[in-house]
Amino acid sequence: MTDLNEIFEYCIKCSICQSVCPVAAYDAGFPGPKILGPDLARLQAAGEAGKNRTAELLPLLGMCSSCLRCETACPFDIPVARLIRRAEQSSRETPPTSLFFQGAFRRLRDKMLAHPEKLGRIGTALAPLANKLMGDSAVQKLLSRALGLEMEQPNNFASWKQCRRFILELSSSDNQRIAQPPAISPGSEQSSYDNRQVDRRAEADHSSEGCSGGSDENNRGDSAENAPRTRVVHRVENQSGDGVANRSDKQACNPAINRLRAHNPKLLYFTGCHVNFYQPEIGTAFLQLLKTLSIKPVIYNSHCCGIPLLSNGDRTGAHRAFLRNIQLLKPYVDQGYQLVCTCPTCSLALKKFYAEELETKVAEQLAAATYDYAEYLENYICELKGLIHPVEDSFIFHLPCHTQAQGVSAANLNLLRLIPGLKLGIVDKCCGQSGTYGYKTEKREVSRGISASLARQIKEQSNELDTKTVLTPCSSCGYRITLECGVRAEHPLLLIWEAAVK
Ligand code: SF4
Ligand code: SF4
Repeated sequence: MTDLNEIFEYCIKCSICQSVCPVAAYDAGFPGPKILGPDLARLQAAGEAGKNRTAELLPLLGMCSSCLRCETACPFDIPVARLIRRAEQSSRETPPTSLFFQGAFRRLRDKMLAHPEKLGRIGTALAPLANKLMGDSAVQKLLSRALGLEMEQPNNFASWKQCRRFILELSSSDNQRIAQPPAISPGSEQSSYDNRQVDRRAEADHSSEGCSGGSDENNRGDSAENAPRTRVVHRVENQSGDGVANRSDKQACNPAINRLRAHNPKLLYFTGCHVNFYQPEIGTAFLQLLKTLSIKPVIYNSHCCGIPLLSNGDRTGAHRAFLRNIQLLKPYVDQGYQLVCTCPTCSLALKKFYAEELETKVAEQLAAATYDYAEYLENYICELKGLIHPVEDSFIFHLPCHTQAQGVSAANLNLLRLIPGLKLGIVDKCCGQSGTYGYKTEKREVSRGISASLARQIKEQSNELDTKTVLTPCSSCGYRITLECGVRAEHPLLLIWEAAVK
């Protein structure tokens, strides 16, 4: 892999990345990915000669929403968003001169947004009160004015009653939960758990056992050494999501292949904060679906993936979270487990951000073993076909940016298209929420402007199909879609589960 400091040399300035950037499309003051990515890296490498222009560009980096559309679109695999993130991280070392109190309150807000796990634990413990408070317009106004936190129609915390079913499902004898990890200190790459010293034998075992299932097209069987160091391994697919059916039915339903896949499948389910604290029913649906397929997963519901820390400027905290998860998950990866997420941001974190941020072999090993739920379930398409009954209804399917960035849009659509009678419209624009980006007052206008073009797409499809339900695997997108379009948004797994199990 080319050094990140030199990769800008490969940019041919085709501007394809500029044309797909939702922030640049809405905000004329945002220079766009080409300028903030490879061009800025070139200026920084030029030193004194590029100093003035660099100083002009640095304050604009924070408006990037990390949707990754630029990286997905770049024909030369330039890690544009990564270059922007790196420049932003280094520019944070010299904090902007903002009003003291406003700066202090915004930092407090960013801290809150960076810790969904802590918020979730408090919120679920006090769910009726917390939901009432967060739903109150006076409280929302106060949060907006004092902290710069925009939380209209926030997602409700799951109540204890809602969590109970999930907890019972987790505690079922079919599942095994991972214990809490030991504490790990930041900067521990040189500490007790040295990621750079991965046993090569384990790597070889991993590449031959753990990653041989799953999608053939993804080259998952590559050893960590041969895998690209910074990229999510993509399937080539149509951006609009129409390029489905990478695997022919004949191939997918070959009983010999399926028997092989079904033989002792080793699956670890990484639940993520949204399932743990807001919608445990998504986790329940996935676990019941797995049970129907005779798969007994190991459950990891202990910690956040760490991406909210990274996107809210706490790089040290993010690295600590990444290392803690890696420490706990590595023994399973070494045994050939496949790590599966139902949230596209969690899977992208494990597939891409850990490796990019930590630059360790073990993070790459984890990346190669991670799957989006649809990518994983696609291996059981034949079994699912036999289970699923018709659903005579219409839905709009939204392809989140982080699903597109992993190249798993087709897998998501292939699963839904197993349901006979289902009419499906597809929308693929960015929702503008981008995790915690859309909750911030200073980004509100841009975020809502981006949402508007998705809202138009949804409205068209909604009129055509006469439906008011959008399926989206990303909870942040779901929040924003409900807010902007007034339609119901739900995880596609709930529909698949209903069609297959209920
Ligand atoms: S799409 Fe890639 S090659 Fe084209 S301008 Fe953007 S970064 Fe450069
Ligand atoms: S990550 Fe998204 S918002 Fe940021 S520059 Fe790329 S396309 Fe634009």
